[in-house]
Amino acid sequence: MLTKTPLDSWTQFVTFVEDCCSGAEFQNWIAPIKCQPESGDELVLEVPNIFVQEYLLENFGKHLESFIPKRANGTLAITFVVAAPKKAIVPRPTSPLPAAPESHKLALNPAYTFEDFIEGPSNQFVKSAAFGVAMRPGKSYNPLFIHGGVGLGKTHLLHAIGHYAKKNHKRLKCHCITTEAFINDLVDNLRSKSMDKMKRFYRSLDLLLVDDIQFLQSRLNFEEEFCNMFEALINQNKQIVITSDKPPGQLKLSERMIARMEWGLVANVGVPDLETRVAILQHKAEQKGVKLSHKVAFFIAERIFHNVRQLEGALNRLAAYSRMMGIDVTEDVVENTLSELFQKAPHKRVSVDSILKSVAVMFGVRVADLRGNSRAKNIAFPRQVAMYLAKEMINDSLMKLAASFGGKTHSTLLHAWKKISKQIGSDEMLRRQIQMARRNLES
Ligand code: ADP
Ligand code: MG
Repeated sequence: MLTKTPLDSWTQFVTFVEDCCSGAEFQNWIAPIKCQPESGDELVLEVPNIFVQEYLLENFGKHLESFIPKRANGTLAITFVVAAPKKAIVPRPTSPLPAAPESHKLALNPAYTFEDFIEGPSNQFVKSAAFGVAMRPGKSYNPLFIHGGVGLGKTHLLHAIGHYAKKNHKRLKCHCITTEAFINDLVDNLRSKSMDKMKRFYRSLDLLLVDDIQFLQSRLNFEEEFCNMFEALINQNKQIVITSDKPPGQLKLSERMIARMEWGLVANVGVPDLETRVAILQHKAEQKGVKLSHKVAFFIAERIFHNVRQLEGALNRLAAYSRMMGIDVTEDVVENTLSELFQKAPHKRVSVDSILKSVAVMFGVRVADLRGNSRAKNIAFPRQVAMYLAKEMINDSLMKLAASFGGKTHSTLLHAWKKISKQIGSDEMLRRQIQMARRNLES
């Protein structure tokens, strides 16, 4: 029997992984790993950077175990080697290049570090990418393009890269700027005829962090200048990181600019799930010295879910209130101080079936009766209420809705809807019953 070589095992593993992850994930993390053929018993994998190695082990460690043999000590028989960098970034200790224009230099927010960025399924990928770029600027993904809705941590990650680079690659020249400040910079330099100086400054950078590129959209004159600078940097393997509220393809920018931004890695920051929101709240509360029980954090995170900035705003408000009143933060306090911030959950998809069940319980009748043809008042009335709810809550054709009520016609349904709509105006009891049914159905 032929024994499997390490290369065979690796090839099988890669085929398996290709099936179980997204195309982008595969291209970004797995495809760049090269298996060295002269590896004997050990599998020798060449990774473009340590970060790809970590990603592989962290996300596919379990699967690797089923394909790759283990050493006597129980560890996987894999040796990783990091590929030699294509082109080193040249440090410039004594360079006479111009310093950043002070007025437009963006100080990094000291709170926006990797340590203070809470990970969850919605942001794990983008955080790893940001961290990889920070560890090896210019050598992993270039540019890194981070996009996502407001208040989800794009600026936080951008600054985190800046902090990390400043601390760990002291000789690299790093500049963080908002797109608006970049445009202002351009305008100033054009006015004072010092464009050369500005160009020299930007082209001398090793790491350029650009926040909110969407503001370049309506500034056609500046787009080209930005694009030139961008290309000059990328061609020298200088790292660029860009944030945006939309993915590159949805920005109203030139095709050239969009193509450039899609060159590297495009990563999305999503809305954090409940557990992550709770963890973020607790982390921020601890930083602010606010006592917040897990239960209360949960209570808030369940009600504020669109973005992290709002969550933080809520916490600030609570902190101020509890300090002022000298009281602990309880659910009651939260309800009193934050109720207007609480967000309504997006409507759950309601079906005719669930409406029938709910109405049947409310009026003490059987679902089959509601679907049937009985004209007895104690059945016909609840049926009309169910029809009213169906028309109000389900976005479907009247005909289809009516058919779901045991084959009624659309005019029956419309008649029921009109009748109940009218009755709600004068019958407070019915109005409340219907409101309650709606709430139950939506929750
Ligand atoms: P964006 O730039 O996407 O609009 P920011 O980066 O300004 O959002 O984030 C808004 C606030 O939310 C900041 O105070 C930031 O620290 C916080 N934040 C967002 N995501 C996280 C996270 N995952 N962990 C900790 N704080 C976060
Ligand atoms: Mg931002």
